[in-house]
Amino acid sequence: MSGAFRGGAHPDDAKKYSKDAPIHDAPVPVELTIPFSQHIGKPASPVVKPLDEVKRGQVIAEAAGFVSAAVHSPVSGKVLKIVQTLHPMGMVCDAAVIQNDGADAWAEGCNIETDTSTLSAEQIKAAVQAAGIVGMGGATFPTHVKLSPPPEKKIDVVILNGVECEPYLTADYRLMLESPATVVKGLLLAMKAVGAARGIVGIEANKPDAFKIMKAELAKAGGNLEAQLLPVMYPQGAEKQLIYACLKREVPSGGLPMDAGVVVQNVGTAHAIYEACAFKRPLTERITSVTGPGVERPANLRVRIGTPVRALLELCGFKEKETKKLIYGGPMMGAAHYNTDVVVNKGMSGILALTDVIDEPYRDCIRCGRCVDGCPMGLVPSELSILAETGRYLDTKDKDVLDCIECGVCTYVCPARRPIVQWLKVCKSELAKARAQAAK
Ligand code: SF4
Ligand code: SF4
Repeated sequence: MSGAFRGGAHPDDAKKYSKDAPIHDAPVPVELTIPFSQHIGKPASPVVKPLDEVKRGQVIAEAAGFVSAAVHSPVSGKVLKIVQTLHPMGMVCDAAVIQNDGADAWAEGCNIETDTSTLSAEQIKAAVQAAGIVGMGGATFPTHVKLSPPPEKKIDVVILNGVECEPYLTADYRLMLESPATVVKGLLLAMKAVGAARGIVGIEANKPDAFKIMKAELAKAGGNLEAQLLPVMYPQGAEKQLIYACLKREVPSGGLPMDAGVVVQNVGTAHAIYEACAFKRPLTERITSVTGPGVERPANLRVRIGTPVRALLELCGFKEKETKKLIYGGPMMGAAHYNTDVVVNKGMSGILALTDVIDEPYRDCIRCGRCVDGCPMGLVPSELSILAETGRYLDTKDKDVLDCIECGVCTYVCPARRPIVQWLKVCKSELAKARAQAAK
């Protein structure tokens, strides 16, 4: 088994709720709300208006620059209106409401089988960009950007993230079990796109069956491909930690995986890359775990983008009265939410209903050092938390707050229940505002 990385924590993986639930297609709703901002970067620019007829896979909003991603209609039907909708991360963004005509008719040029062996690196990147693919582990960074490092950055390895280290989530696990071939084909396409000769799939030791299946599938494909079984440790799915765990290469402070010669993609993203290249299918659906003690029938669902979260919770037997907290994503890095008026977007890896939450006020730091031991980035979260608590947000820059990967380990291990990661997000946002102000 390969080694791990500095720090980290061992939360209960809580995979038991949904790990044995095969992937099912969720019903496609009569009305879907498709946000134009489902990625890191500029929101996409709408190209449809009310009463326009659309087909599945048709672009409804174009990428607004290189670091942006196109948005496609997940169904055929009619645009009813353009509205503002609540984003799972809490902000509001524009969206198209589309009435589904039930025909599921694809747009011209979509859903056509293609021989991927003849595609050049440039054609693969173009197909990924046209399909609007973003990091599906939750990061939502546009995938074509990751596949286009500057020429001076030589990439020799693509790592697929099959770690799924966030507790509860099982969408990636089920994908590896049920569709290993498409994941491996997506890996090979990503390797070709960046010119890498080596491919690795990192999988944690709590998924031995997925490891076995992926290992066999990689062996069938031949070449320099391997599955690595990694010790269970949160946050191993973070890029820098995964690169270290698999290759013992360090990404420099402020640097990117490409500075270590690596591109990291989630296994779900690899599947989407294959779908885009082999079938010209834009990203209009994803697999999401609906799980936790707050649902009677936890599930892994293939869901059209724009499906209301409430419909999925009800499908899975939502115990609304017993649920104390809803989280979109995993419990460590996801966003806790106050209502269900949100739709599934490209980055929503899970919908988590928790019935038992600790609700007590935070206390002063007792200087136990647990957060320092746990921080995978080698920061001193206790000190940062005191600066943030006292409103000295900008002073945290000198303490390397920008290296924080927002993994939440410090908050998880803190016996004083200090909301450290939430404070550090505020610090980073205040620093960004100060930078923007200075630039003006
Ligand atoms: S300071 Fe940031 S990187 Fe370190 S444990 Fe806390 S959230 Fe994670
Ligand atoms: S874990 Fe909490 S109490 Fe302990 S040093 Fe860190 S901030 Fe202070």
